[in-house]
Amino acid sequence: MTRTLDRPDELVAGVRAGDRRSLARAITMAESTRADHREVADEVLEALLPSTGRATRVGVSGPPGVGKSTFIEAFGVHVIDEGHQLAVLAVDPSSRRSGGSILGDKTRMAELSHRQEAFIRPSPGGGHLGGVARRTREAMLLCEAAGFDVVLVETIGVGQSEVAVADMVDLFALLVAPGGGDELQGIKRGIMELADLVIVNKADGDLAAAAGRTRADYANAVHLLRPKWDAWATEVLAVSALTGAGVSDVWDAIGRFCAAVSASGELADVRAGQATAWLWSEVGDALLDRFRETPAVAALLDEVEGDVASGRVAPTRAARRLLDAFTAS
Ligand code: GDP
Repeated sequence: MTRTLDRPDELVAGVRAGDRRSLARAITMAESTRADHREVADEVLEALLPSTGRATRVGVSGPPGVGKSTFIEAFGVHVIDEGHQLAVLAVDPSSRRSGGSILGDKTRMAELSHRQEAFIRPSPGGGHLGGVARRTREAMLLCEAAGFDVVLVETIGVGQSEVAVADMVDLFALLVAPGGGDELQGIKRGIMELADLVIVNKADGDLAAAAGRTRADYANAVHLLRPKWDAWATEVLAVSALTGAGVSDVWDAIGRFCAAVSASGELADVRAGQATAWLWSEVGDALLDRFRETPAVAALLDEVEGDVASGRVAPTRAARRLLDAFTAS
């Protein structure tokens, strides 16, 4: 593929004007592993940074099959009908849907993907969670600069991605199904503690009664958790993504949440903390890359790893040997 490198100033102007192609292109630059693409992305992001930060950032997580895509579709359409512009991003370190998966997302969210006011971007494929999370954060900022005032980040992969998403959003919503406690649904207690909103989905038909009981169970359970915010206590809502019942209540709750944590000053503090944490994870990642690429370190790696694996040398001592080689070079 021979394509001339995008000009940062053109991308900046395009994103600012809300042009979809420029936005998609800028995100592609940010997702790229090519050094020249990264440079373009860094320049674009820096120029656009003052235009970011005005969106409501919402994370959505839940076990597979709970109805995340169905919910995002119903919720997204509601939010758009309320006059907002919505971007949907995904974090999927397992990269099950990597590369060319845009079609997959479009079928998953058929109505939403046809709306002018929506922008759906699948998870950047491949790489470790840290890399995927960083690229999603950058995509989020680019979407904000393009005028999207609600950004939804969905976790696809299970495991640590919930924590990574909670670290980049304002409000973290956990979707659960009727019946069965956390253990049955495969939700770890730590994930429950991240939730600002628990949404019991599938509250319709035969499942309606069970959904009511599950809602009451979770309402009791969240009271026992250590509160995350001074100004907000986790709420539990029952919805049906299929019929749309209760979906507007979720949007109302998000509005009340934002008003409360903005007024208390907590939101600004949390966002500042997220930005600093991002800085340090960038430093960590970059440092590790440089470390591994340093010839003096690279020359020793196999030997030192072998020593540690076979128990001949203690890991602390081995690490010091590598670090000495790094600093001496
Ligand atoms: P995801 O894996 O979490 O993205 O779940 P999906 O959105 O793909 O939904 C999984 C299944 O649950 C599908 O068959 C949906 O039709 C069904 N489903 C989703 N939301 C609801 C709901 O509110 N009520 C009912 N009864 N079924 C639902």
